[in-house]
Amino acid sequence: MPQNKQIHLDNRPQGEATASNFKLVTVETPALQDGQVLVKHHFMSLDPYMRGRMNDAKSYAAPQPLGQVMGGGTAGEIVESKSDKYKPGDKVVGMGGWQEYSVVNVEQPGALRKVDTTHVPLSHYLGAVGMPGVTAWYGLVKIIEPKAGETMVVSAATGAVGSAFGALAKARGCRTVGIAGGAQKCKYAVEELGFDACIDYKQHKDVGSLSKALKEACPDGIDGYFENVGGAVMDAVMTRMNAFGRIALCGMIAGYDGKPVPMAFPQLLLTNRLKLQGFIVSEHMEVWPEALKELGTLVGTGKLRPRESVAQGIEAAPEAFLGLLKGRNFGKQLVKLV
Ligand code: NDP
Repeated sequence: MPQNKQIHLDNRPQGEATASNFKLVTVETPALQDGQVLVKHHFMSLDPYMRGRMNDAKSYAAPQPLGQVMGGGTAGEIVESKSDKYKPGDKVVGMGGWQEYSVVNVEQPGALRKVDTTHVPLSHYLGAVGMPGVTAWYGLVKIIEPKAGETMVVSAATGAVGSAFGALAKARGCRTVGIAGGAQKCKYAVEELGFDACIDYKQHKDVGSLSKALKEACPDGIDGYFENVGGAVMDAVMTRMNAFGRIALCGMIAGYDGKPVPMAFPQLLLTNRLKLQGFIVSEHMEVWPEALKELGTLVGTGKLRPRESVAQGIEAAPEAFLGLLKGRNFGKQLVKLV
């Protein structure tokens, strides 16, 4: 059996996460028991939620235990099988974590899923046609409930979730406006992702200036907002929401290092009769098949062309993860392991 490099959570961050919170460990892979398969990971997913799990704090999910492999999504290939459900060469996605190989009990519910890479590249099953894509789908379809002709805005627009949101909203006949950090990301949002407009929030140093830019990009106001960031970006969007607008509260990355993310204008929730709803995608497994089908079709037909930031080798994972938390990724952040 092969040697397996893993990244463990060694200690918990005090404020900002750093590379010293992680530890690289090499272990022997155990021999397979009946009903187990050995998966060689081709890609590991890095996701903002992992930052929350590094803390020992009350949350919707248990903290990442110290001294164990960092949890996370993986896409790879069966290389050895003691199950008649999988054979070597099958492409699979699972929750293998930050390591090169995983031994999986195939009967464990949700542990592994076969995927078809004929029209969709394997890596996209960790992004647009995976958890981030379904996240966008749930917030748009189940919380915002868009109507054709309405204006939809999303922050972190070029990221894994934001880019899928743009394509899904466009497919429903909406005007789509992204908010992203930097001219290059905004150009990509309009030219490649098909957003009608994109605002570079880094060019707008205060809420008033960003609010003005939103007014220009959204002449009919904002009906639906998909929030990934929090802080000043959210404050500015709030000032442009139409009456009876809907906000899907998906993420607040501006506060993931523990800083408070105050809301400047909560009174607008009342005066504009807004709906604001937080959600966690893993609590809505019932929508995944429908969402994945639509997302797979959008990618397969080229209507969603997601971009990826790919770090090479497991040793690169901690720095790539810290970069994701600073917005240094451009598209879905992955680590390629083969
Ligand atoms: P992204 O690929 O979008 O990467 C994160 C992006 O956040 C960065 O690239 C950066 O883009 C942006 N960002 C904006 N403000 C900040 C800031 N202050 N600090 C750091 N980054 C910032 O990640 P995902 O698409 O994977 O996730 C997007 C959001 O969705 C996250 O908040 C995540 O936690 C959330 N999420 C929630 C789920 C749920 O079930 N509720 C499930 C999955 C994800 P830019 O340069 O454009 O600012």
